[in-house]
Amino acid sequence: MPSYTDRIVVIGAGPVGLCLSLALAQADLKVCLVEALGDDNFLEQVPRAGTNHPATLEMYDRIGLYEKLEPRGIIAPVFHYWDRHETRRIAAFDHSALKDDTRFPYVLQCERIKIVEEAMKMAKAHPNIDLRLNTEFVSFEQDADGVIARVVNADGHEETIDGRYIVSGEGARSIVRKELGIAFEGFTYDDRTLNIEVAYDFTQHGYAHRNYISDPDEWSNLFHWKGPPDRWRVHFPTDPKADENALTRPEVLQAQMQKFLPTGKPFDIIGSNLYVVHQRVADKFRVGRAILAGDSAHVNSPIGAMGMNSGVHDAINLADKLIAITRGEADESVLDRYERQRRHVAIAHTQAQTIRNKRLLAERDLAVRKRNHNELRRTAEDPALARKFLLRTALFESLREAEAIA
Ligand SMILES: Cc1cc2nc3c(=O)[nH]c(=O)nc-3n(C[C@H](O)[C@H](O)[C@H](O)COP(=O)(O)OP(=O)(O)OC[C@H]3O[C@@H](n4cnc5c(N)ncnc54)[C@H](O)[C@@H]3O)c2cc1C
Repeated sequence: MPSYTDRIVVIGAGPVGLCLSLALAQADLKVCLVEALGDDNFLEQVPRAGTNHPATLEMYDRIGLYEKLEPRGIIAPVFHYWDRHETRRIAAFDHSALKDDTRFPYVLQCERIKIVEEAMKMAKAHPNIDLRLNTEFVSFEQDADGVIARVVNADGHEETIDGRYIVSGEGARSIVRKELGIAFEGFTYDDRTLNIEVAYDFTQHGYAHRNYISDPDEWSNLFHWKGPPDRWRVHFPTDPKADENALTRPEVLQAQMQKFLPTGKPFDIIGSNLYVVHQRVADKFRVGRAILAGDSAHVNSPIGAMGMNSGVHDAINLADKLIAITRGEADESVLDRYERQRRHVAIAHTQAQTIRNKRLLAERDLAVRKRNHNELRRTAEDPALARKFLLRTALFESLREAEAIA
């Protein structure tokens, strides 16, 4: 029987792998964190998540990350729903309704790339984290006592890394999940989403830093990020049959923006990309000593900003359980509870809510649209209903529900 090093092998230095590694290292556990990207290309990843909900800010704060992120982000207490069809605001929700529920009654608009940059600096500085950049995880095996991961290291050589557990923070294409033969059930939307990044001050038109915009023909999202230069991200659905190059030609992007907000002057378009949206949850989050967290376990539409947030919640939940096992305060059955809790959240909250969010924005039936909008307006205007709504969107409800799962 091989002897295993007392450490956790974490694959992937995305927000999930980094938050998990920091939480473990700060509790005196040893971590080997494996990341395919290197210092030369780590910050060249495409724009993705950026809205950080209050419940997640509490977790960042616990691992010392919040104070690094706040100066790089925008504090956004209010978010809006708009009706693009009628060019009017439907409802404004103000997180200050949660002032007695959290120290962070706002979302922080701070992009994933800034989060991983700051968390990576902390990981590099932590003596309990053995960081392997430029190292591609290839496969793994496990027995009752430990795991062995095979990687191709920065010099291009095959190497093995052993430990007590392996956690996949590799993202949606998780090799760990595939090697374990875990099904990733769900569906993929036909239409790809077009993301356009623009330097323009949308607040002059009454928009908040974060806006969900419904339209039967072309729903949209509009989010503000701190610069320099300050940028706004605008999302649009696209024709599933359209050619990718045709959708992202500069003149097409300009026309798209002018259709959204006719200013008569060209927009300063900083970038664009197209992405495919999946709604999937892994059948299992754990097999023996191999555990899935974040996008490796669940992927969802970004409408509602729940993917990275719920992934960070996985990371902190899992960290507490691995810490308790290592300290002898719990047995391995707590890992089954991790699966029960976080899989429930992925299905009943993240999937359900993001599917509802997209349906709400894209609804074509005018009577249903009107009913939905009236309900949103009523909810925002009633303090008790607004607080309940915000406890759900700020992800506290999902955490409370998970806590009640034995
Ligand atoms: C346009 C868009 C907007 C979004 N907006 C939001 C939002 O506002 N809020 C929100 O909560 N979520 C949002 N999401 C979702 C969010 O980006 C993801 O849920 C989140 O990044 C998942 O984090 P992760 O750490 O699990 O995986 P990832 O972020 O995918 O990180 C995986 C890491 O693993 C590394 N890796 C992969 N394979 C290997 C390997 N074989 N060996 C070594 N390393 C490997 C990768 O290089 C990467 O660093 C958005 C997504 C998109 C596409």
